[in-house]
Amino acid sequence: MNGTRARSRAVKRVLVWVILFAMPVRSSLARQSTRSASVVQLGENEQVRAALAWFAPNLMWINDQQARLTEIPAPAFQEGQRAAVLKTLLSAAGLAVQVDATGNVIGELRGVNEKEIVALSAHLDTVFPAGTDVKVRHEGSRMLAPGISDNGTGLAALAAIARALEEAQIKPQRTILFVANVGEEGEGNLRGMRALVDAYRSRLKAVIVLDGAGTDHVTTIALASRRLEVVISGPGGHSWSDFGMPNPINALVRGSVRFINTKVPASPRTTFNLGQIDGGTSINSIPYQARLKVDVRSESESELARLESALRESIAAGVRDEMESPRDRSRGKLEWKVELLGSRPGGELAAASPLLAALRASDAIVGNESRIERSSTDANIPLSLGIDAISIGAGGNGGGAHSLQEWYDPAGREMGLKRALLTLLGVADLATERTR
Ligand SMILES: [Zn+2]
Repeated sequence: MNGTRARSRAVKRVLVWVILFAMPVRSSLARQSTRSASVVQLGENEQVRAALAWFAPNLMWINDQQARLTEIPAPAFQEGQRAAVLKTLLSAAGLAVQVDATGNVIGELRGVNEKEIVALSAHLDTVFPAGTDVKVRHEGSRMLAPGISDNGTGLAALAAIARALEEAQIKPQRTILFVANVGEEGEGNLRGMRALVDAYRSRLKAVIVLDGAGTDHVTTIALASRRLEVVISGPGGHSWSDFGMPNPINALVRGSVRFINTKVPASPRTTFNLGQIDGGTSINSIPYQARLKVDVRSESESELARLESALRESIAAGVRDEMESPRDRSRGKLEWKVELLGSRPGGELAAASPLLAALRASDAIVGNESRIERSSTDANIPLSLGIDAISIGAGGNGGGAHSLQEWYDPAGREMGLKRALLTLLGVADLATERTR
């Protein structure tokens, strides 16, 4: 017994030295390789192996939780019902669970060091409005329903990882928070993550976001984005008797066409989307209002600012075009405004961060390869404040996110769960004492 332990200790020490020796001599890289080595050791720890082994016999349970959660509607600002189920699931995993004022469900696994916190999060909300049919259908190995992958996968993984740690009686060094947060999508404007980071900021050492399916990527660069709403208003009137009255929909269409023609650079990659348009009351009424929602994203903050100004200028010009068209406009005028609905700040995880090293080491242990990605996720908030954060898929395969055809295939999910669990413990560390 002693002999075996001494031998495995010696093997580990050799491994650490091999890794250290192979790295260029720079302190940050040396730190990173020490961290990688410690994740390798984690993978060999008997309790961690027990936690990893919990997934395989419980894959059906995990699929069932995913379907059950997906079938509870959770549009932005209406996540309460789904949150209540997560609260039950996290409590059943032995965590002390509370729901904060924003609606985030927070389950705490207390570490030896309560002054340092690592958060594992998955967003509760979906992009689908109330009334959307979210019943899960099965086709072969696939599950189909709006929101099944984004973020049914992340939520099921959150509950599963909490259970796996509980079953293996794992006590971490740093306190771990399992968070099912509100407001990631659209106009939620990351309010759940903002509140979480606000509440724990001084103690928060790392945030791991589980979002959607897959194991092929790790998001370490937070894509900056802005969401804008255009509103054009006028007096309105009758289509025949008031013909000539300025028309807000006309002005919006004129301005939108100008905006669509704005040139955006391929690098830094910059995009825009006219996502929602509405206005008017009936076919034979001149509308009194027209609205448009626009999402702009860029790898560069200055391109974002440029695109926002382009939108304002285009709408101003569209209103001018409408007013200057050759009809009698003396009876009314148009008002317009462009309002910022939300803004997601950018940021980037340092290449030498312990969190990225833990993810890389976990990839190596489970035999996965992943590429760095830039995206707009809950990780934007901690990253913009200099707190280590990544967003990863929770395994399996999915597609059609944000569409009614969304699907998820759990085949291979286990690898994603193990990868997330190892990364989490890689940054939270195991307590040296054995009891929980
Ligand atoms: Zn998502």
